[in-house]
Amino acid sequence: MFAASAQSRVFHLIESNNHRTICGLKVSQLGRAGPKRERLHLVRFKPMGYSECRHCSRMNLGEGCNKDFPD
Ligand SMILES: [Zn+2]
Repeated sequence: MFAASAQSRVFHLIESNNHRTICGLKVSQLGRAGPKRERLHLVRFKPMGYSECRHCSRMNLGEGCNKDFPD
C-alpha cells in the first residue's frame, strides 16, 4: 500500500498493518480530522506522476527496519 498527498505530489510507503508511513506520518482515514495540506490518502498502486518520498525510500532500503542486505 501507498499513501499519497495531492498537495505535494509525493507518495509514501505504508508499514504493513499500520496506518502510518514508513517515514512516520499518520495516514488520515477517510477524510477525518487533520490539516488538509498534510492529509494523506491510501492508494493501492503507485500514483502516476508522483515521486517517492525520500525518507520512505531510504527506510525501505534497510535503514530503520529489520532487513539485512548481504553486501
Ligand atoms: Zn514518506
